[in-house]
This record gives sequence, structure tokens and C-alpha cells, in this order.
Amino acid sequence: MARRKIIAGNWKMNKTPSEAVALAKELIPLVKNDDVDVVFCVPAIDIVPVVEAVKGTNIGVGAENLYIEDSGAYTGEISADMIKDAGAKYVIIGHSERREYFAETDEFLNKKVKKALEKDLIPILCCGETLEQREMGVTIDFVRFQIKSDLVGVSADDAKKVVIAYEPIWAIGTGKTATSDQAEEVCAAIRTCLAEIYDQQTADEIRIQYGGSMNAANAAELLSKPNIDGGLVGGASLKPDFGKVVNP
Ligand code: PEP
Repeated sequence: MARRKIIAGNWKMNKTPSEAVALAKELIPLVKNDDVDVVFCVPAIDIVPVVEAVKGTNIGVGAENLYIEDSGAYTGEISADMIKDAGAKYVIIGHSERREYFAETDEFLNKKVKKALEKDLIPILCCGETLEQREMGVTIDFVRFQIKSDLVGVSADDAKKVVIAYEPIWAIGTGKTATSDQAEEVCAAIRTCLAEIYDQQTADEIRIQYGGSMNAANAAELLSKPNIDGGLVGGASLKPDFGKVVNP
């Protein structure tokens, strides 16, 4: 089945609000493509001005994180309602940087996925192995474990809204991209896992992105693979290069 491609930028902890607006405006003409969903996932403080800057364009805005409660004494956190009300439609969940630096477990991430879906935000759920796991030959076992744990209790109808980002940790921000065959192998295994959890039709509807040093030079090859439905792009999303990832 034809899945609509989705290319999302992950700006990470980069760009002040005024810098974010300037970058958004620079990228708007470069990322026009009616056949692709384009998303800017930006720091929480940049959501409101970036939503305003991209109004009337084909660009959706996403948050980079959310908290599992609706409101209350959780100093420093942001809720799904806040993200929605600010005008964002997507939220990254389980990026390897959050798993590593903020000790986010799959059990916790499962709650985040459910909260995002309950509030009508589209989760971009990240998974991916370390270099050690790849070298030990447990990549697919590990990624299957992450997907199964993160989607516990999520219905098939809700799962169809989720975007999965396969991001081998050794390829993030390192300039080492997985080969298109390596990326396709794991994305195909994720789809098989989704078919086991749900059914083939559900699995066929879920979009799976590749992320890890994706850029203008390698995007076309990665995106030509049958199970790679888009990209989650870090470094290259902060540059005009992003236009060439959307329009390779
Ligand atoms: C990311 O942070 O999700 C990512 C893929 O980063 P980069 O493209 O810089 O490797």
C-alpha cells in the first residue's frame, strides 16, 4: 500500500525563538512538496512563534517531548494540552537522547505514547540499537522489545496514527549513516513486529522513518526503500539541506 512520506526535522536544543522564526522562514520555500508531510519538531519555547511563522504552509509543527500528566506540580515539564493549544500536532517520544540522558524507560515511554494519542497528538516514537548491540547481533531483538513495550495497550486504530522512527544510536549525529540495506532490514522487521502485535493491514498503514545522519546526499537512496516512509533528521534539518531531504 502507498504510505504518504513524512520528513521531520528534530531541532533538538537549538535556536532561540527569534532564530527559530528566521530558520522556519528560510526553510518554508525549500520544503514545499504536496506529496510529503513536513514537520519541524522544535524546542518547547519555539512552538508558538514557529506555528505562527509556518501558518498557511504545508509544514506541521511538533514538540520534542511531553509529560505524562495533564497538569500539576511537575516543575519544568510540559503537557500534551499545552503542546496542542500552542498549535503543534506532533510530538517526538523516546528519542535516544532522552532515553540516555534522562533515563526514560520503555514503561514510561508507553505512558507518553498513550497520553499523546489520548490528546490527539501524533507520536513520533523513536527506537534503535547501540553499536554494541549491533555488533552482538541483537539489533532486531532489541528494537522489537522497544516497539512491543512502547505500544503496550495501544489499540490498532491508535497505532495507525503513530509514526515510528528507527534511529540506530551509532548513526545519530555521527555522520555515519546506516546503509540503505541496513536501514531497510530493520524497518521491515519493525513492520513484521507490528503485524504480529496487530495485523498486516494495520502494520501496512503505519509509517516508519529512518533517522541517523540523513542528509541531502543520502536521502534519496534511503527513501527509495519499500519500508522507509520518511526521515527524522537532526543536523541537516537546521540548514537549507533540509529542503533537499524533502525534495531529493
Ligand atoms: C536525530 O537526532 O533524531 C538525528 C537523526 O540526528 P542526526 O540527523 O543529526 O543524526
